[in-house]
Amino acid sequence: MATTSSIPNAPINLLALTEPEMVTFTRAQGWPDYRATQILRWLYQRRAQTIADMTDLSLRDRSTLAESARIGRATGCTVLRSQDGTRKLLLPLDDGLMIEAVLIPDDERLTLCVSTQVGCMLDCGFCLTGTMGLKRNLKAHEIVDQVLAAQDRLDARERVTNLVFMGMGEPLANVDALETAVACFTNKSWGLGWSPRRITVSTAGLASRLKRVAALGINLAISLNATTETQRRDLMPAANDLASLRSLLAACRRYPLALNRRLTFEYVLLAGVNDLPSDAQRLAALLRNIQCKVNLIPFNEFPGSRFRRPLDRDVLRFQATLRHTGIDAFVRKSRGRDVLGACGQLGEQPVRPGSIALTPIESRC
Ligand code: SAH
Repeated sequence: MATTSSIPNAPINLLALTEPEMVTFTRAQGWPDYRATQILRWLYQRRAQTIADMTDLSLRDRSTLAESARIGRATGCTVLRSQDGTRKLLLPLDDGLMIEAVLIPDDERLTLCVSTQVGCMLDCGFCLTGTMGLKRNLKAHEIVDQVLAAQDRLDARERVTNLVFMGMGEPLANVDALETAVACFTNKSWGLGWSPRRITVSTAGLASRLKRVAALGINLAISLNATTETQRRDLMPAANDLASLRSLLAACRRYPLALNRRLTFEYVLLAGVNDLPSDAQRLAALLRNIQCKVNLIPFNEFPGSRFRRPLDRDVLRFQATLRHTGIDAFVRKSRGRDVLGACGQLGEQPVRPGSIALTPIESRC
């Protein structure tokens, strides 16, 4: 993370400082080290929007701080509400680009889905984000700000129960920022204090970086989506160049899992392409002896895509075939499709509420 801005004498963004950088910064002001923790708590636990909010710092210290620093929270966030309660947040970045985060209520859970990149370089054939190309990696504080912005907009009785890195981008292609952001979410002293078990990172399969996810203690989801090398190369060519199906599964088998934890495999169901009983059988064979569950995601359609969403009947048949082999398989509910907030629908599309037919599958069994 940068401690200084590229513009000389521009105020430092306090959110862009890591804990050690904050200590260096407060020492440079001649302050005791505990002041660093005090400021970090204001930023993350109390979500201060301005330095003036930091009321346990003396007025003098606050004005000294305001001379050289600022709190670079995104302003002008737009919230789109889906009929099903899903809320999509559009956050403008300093350079004018936009990022998206999605709040998804489901029974007792409230899951927040965050982005790690603007766009994505992988360009998987079924994903809208891929059609944008990669604009840039998000900085760690831009990832964290999605959480802070969402928390600011919760109703009084709501709290985020789960965080998933399944928004725009490939999280493991921006793994340094991912690690810094996760540290903010899990730090108990000044951060959000969340258990790493509440956090899941989803990857298209950057096999060589799975170790770094393991070290964070968070959950890992792998977007498999295909059961043969040819099929995967067709659907996810760039991801497949980085790791073949075979080497990805080998990395999954090596992944250090605690006894009571399991990997998640995501599988986007595309009508007539990878949703046949033979696909389900091959999938079951590939996952044999891996501690895992499978999340089936019926394809969410977007204008211009060459794929179609399978019939509910075919989705349930695929699930039943997997279950028959002893694999725990779930169908992910499609949420927020009317605000283009569902999986693979984050990207540059004009939002015309009501323009997309809703065909929810409500069977999370
Ligand atoms: N790049 C990461 C995270 C972002 S995508 C990854 O690939 O895992 C999150 C999930 O949505 C992935 O499992 C992906 O396969 C799925 N997905 C992408 N586009 C989709 C679409 N149009 N319909 C349904 N799921 C989609």
